[in-house]
Amino acid sequence: MWRTGDWTFALLLLLAPPLPAQPAVDPRIEVKVDELIAQMTLAEKIGQLNLYSTKHDGTGRLWPDDEVGRARYQRLMSGGVGSMINVLGAVATRDAQELAVKNSRLGIPLLFGYDVIHGFKTIFPVPLGETASWDLEAIEWSARIAATEAAAAGVHWTLAPMVDIARDSRWGRIMEGAGEDPYLGARVAAARVRGFQGTDLRALDTVAACAKHFAGGGLAEAGRDYNVADISEQTLHNVVLPPFKAALDAGVATFMSAFNEIGGTPATASELLQRTLLKGEWGFEGFVVSDWSSIGELVPHGVAAGARDAARLAMVAGNDMDMESGAYALNLASLIESGEVDARLIDDAVRRVLRVKFRLGLFDDPYRYSDPEREQRVVLSDAHLAAARDVARKSIVLLKNDRTARQRRADGPLLPLSKTRGTIAVIGSLAADKDTPLGGWRALGKTDSAVSLLEGMQAAVGPDVTLRHARGAPLGVGERNVAAELTFNDDRSGFAEAREAARGADVVVLAVGEEAFQTGEGRSQVDVGLKGVQDELLREVLAVNPNVVVVLMNGRPLAISHIAESVPTILEAWHLGSQAGHAIADVLFGDYNPSGKLPVSFPRHVGQEPLYYNHKNTGRPGPLDVVFWSHYTDSPNTPLYPFGHGLSYTTFDYSKVTVSTPTMTLSSQQRVSVTVTNTGDRAGAEVVQLYIRDLVGSTTRPVKELKGFERIELDPGESRTVTFTLDASDLAFYTARGVWEAEPGEFVVSVGTNSVDVQSARFTLR
Ligand code: BGC
Repeated sequence: MWRTGDWTFALLLLLAPPLPAQPAVDPRIEVKVDELIAQMTLAEKIGQLNLYSTKHDGTGRLWPDDEVGRARYQRLMSGGVGSMINVLGAVATRDAQELAVKNSRLGIPLLFGYDVIHGFKTIFPVPLGETASWDLEAIEWSARIAATEAAAAGVHWTLAPMVDIARDSRWGRIMEGAGEDPYLGARVAAARVRGFQGTDLRALDTVAACAKHFAGGGLAEAGRDYNVADISEQTLHNVVLPPFKAALDAGVATFMSAFNEIGGTPATASELLQRTLLKGEWGFEGFVVSDWSSIGELVPHGVAAGARDAARLAMVAGNDMDMESGAYALNLASLIESGEVDARLIDDAVRRVLRVKFRLGLFDDPYRYSDPEREQRVVLSDAHLAAARDVARKSIVLLKNDRTARQRRADGPLLPLSKTRGTIAVIGSLAADKDTPLGGWRALGKTDSAVSLLEGMQAAVGPDVTLRHARGAPLGVGERNVAAELTFNDDRSGFAEAREAARGADVVVLAVGEEAFQTGEGRSQVDVGLKGVQDELLREVLAVNPNVVVVLMNGRPLAISHIAESVPTILEAWHLGSQAGHAIADVLFGDYNPSGKLPVSFPRHVGQEPLYYNHKNTGRPGPLDVVFWSHYTDSPNTPLYPFGHGLSYTTFDYSKVTVSTPTMTLSSQQRVSVTVTNTGDRAGAEVVQLYIRDLVGSTTRPVKELKGFERIELDPGESRTVTFTLDASDLAFYTARGVWEAEPGEFVVSVGTNSVDVQSARFTLR
C-alpha cells in the first residue's frame, strides 16, 4: 500500500510549478559531440544511425545464430549499431551494452529503446482510456511511473507517446492515442512527455520520449492501418500537427516518422514535414527515427526504385535513424561517396543521436540505467500498483445510469451497488479474465497478471453479498496468432449457466467487449460492434433479469446502440491495466464516484465513421423538410455518446455562461465564467469543458472546438465558479493565408458537461 513518502513524491510532482524542460542543446554537450564526431570514421557515423531489434524480446541470444544474426553481431561489436529496441531487463541491457562498448573502437554506448506505451510492468489503462480521465496530473504521473520502471531495467528511450489524432474507430491504433481532439490531444501529449522525461534526462527515473507517428497515420483512409492519409493542408495544420507541436514544446527528445503517405509522399520521405517544418520552422534539435522498416517500404510505396534509393530519400527527408530496414547500413556510405547524399546530412544526424546519448548521461556511465537491484525494487511496487488503480478508476466513464422498469431500489438507478447485501450475478468471460485488461502494447506486463473484475468485486463486498459467476460467452474472437485474423467463435454452451446465474439476482454485471489484441497496430476492423455471440448472451440475460449493468472492456469506441436501448446502465471500463478489477469495483460500489469523459465519439453505427464532434458545418447542415441536406436517411448524424460525455453518481448544475467583455481585441483577454453546483448527495468530480465556434473564417471552421477544460471536485451542495481566460492565440487557426492567426469576427463560446449539453454566449474579436 501507500507509504507516506510515496504520497509526498506524488504531491511534489503534482504541486510543484512545472520546471522548464532541460534544453535540447547544451553548449557543454555540443563541445563533446564535436570532439567525438571529429574522431569518427564514416562507417562509425553510419553505425550510429542504425537501429536493430532483438529477435527474442531480449531473452537468450540477441539474434538467431544464422547469417543475418551473425552479421548483426559483427556490426554491434564494430560500432555499426547505434541503438537497439526490445532488449529487455537490466541484465540483458547490460550484457548488450558491454558488447558494444567493450568491442567497438570508440566505445560509444548503445541507446536502448522500447515501446513503453501505458506502463512497463505495472500496466496503466490503454492511452485512449487514460485520456478519458482528463486528468493531466494523473496522466503525467502514470508516464513517470512507466519511466521509472523502464529506466531501472536499462531502457533509455520509450517509443511513446503516440500523438496521432484518430477519428475512426475502425483504426485499431486509436487505443494508443488521446482520441479525436487536437486540443485535448496536445495537452495530453505534453503531459506524457513531461511524465516520461521529467526535467532532466539524466535522472534515473526518466527516459527520453518519442512523439510518433509524424504525421497523419491516424487519419488513414477507411481506418485501415498503414493506408493512405489524403489530408488537406488545413487539416494537417489544424488537426494533425498540434499534438506534435505540443510534444515539441514540452521538450520531447525524439520524433518518429510515419508509415503512411500524406499528399502523395510517404511521410518517411517527406522533406517538407521533417526538414522544412520540424527541423526548420519548429527548430527541433533531437533526432528523428523512421518507423519499423519504413525506409525500405519506400520501395513498395513506389517512390524508390530500391533500398539504395530509399536510403537516399529518407536521409534527405530527415530521418536520422533507420529502424530495422538496414537501408542506411548498406547504402549510405556509397551514397556519400557518389555525392548523392551530402556528408553534412550524416554529420547532422549523428550529432542529433549523440546529443540524446550525452543528455542521458550514457557517456559518463553506459550501464547507469541497467540496475538489477533497482529494477527488482521499483517494478510493481505497492506505490505503483496503487497509482495504477487510481488512474484506472479515474479513466472509467459512466455512459448511462437510468432507473429500470423493475427497479431493485426505489430511490434511484442501479449504480452504485450495495456492498452489504444482495445477490449479484457476474457474467461474461471477461469477468474472470486476468489478461485482457492489460490491453495491447503492454510492454512487460505479465500474462494473466491483472486483477480481474470478479476478483475486484470479491475483494470489495461484505459477507452478506452473494456473487454468482457464470462465464457466459467467449469474446467471439479466435486464437491469437501472428496474423491476428479474427475468427468467429460462436460457443453458446455457457448460456444456460448464465441464465441461471442471472435469474433472481438483484442485479447482473455483464462484462463484454474486446480481446486485448483486437486493437493496436494492424488491428483495423470493418465492424466495431461486439464480436461472436456476446449480443446474444445479453439478450439471454435480459430475458430473465432486466437489471443489467454492462461493463465494457475495449480499446476502441464501440457501436452499441442496441445495448444502450436495452439496458439501464453502461460503464465504459476500457482495458484498464494491472488493477482493472479493483478500479471497476471501486466505481461499481460507489467507493469512487465516476468522473471520466469520452475522448472520442461513440457511433450509432460503424457507417458514420470517421465520426468526430469538431466537424464542419457544410453548406447544407439541415435539418430540412426535403431530403437534400447532409445526412443519412437511415440514421441520425449524431453520435450515440458524444465527445466529452460521462455521467456521475451526483448531478451538476451549470449557471448561465458569462463573458467579461462583449468585444475583445487581438491583444486583450476574454474571461468566460460559469458556476457549477453539485446538486446531488455525493461528492464528485466534473470536467467543465469550454468550446468555441468561429462563425466566419477565411476557411471553413469546425462547429465546435475544445479550447479549455477544468476538472473540479465538489462536495454535495458546493458551488464553484470556473473562469477560463482566452486570448487571441486560443482563437487562432491555420488560415487561408497559411499562417496561424486569429481572425476578427464573431465567436460563440460554449461551456458544459460534454460537447453537446452546453450553454453559450457570444463575443466579437476586433
Ligand atoms: C510501430 C511503432 C513502434 C515500432 C517498434 C512499429 O511497427 O508503428 O509505433 O514503435 O513498431 O515497435
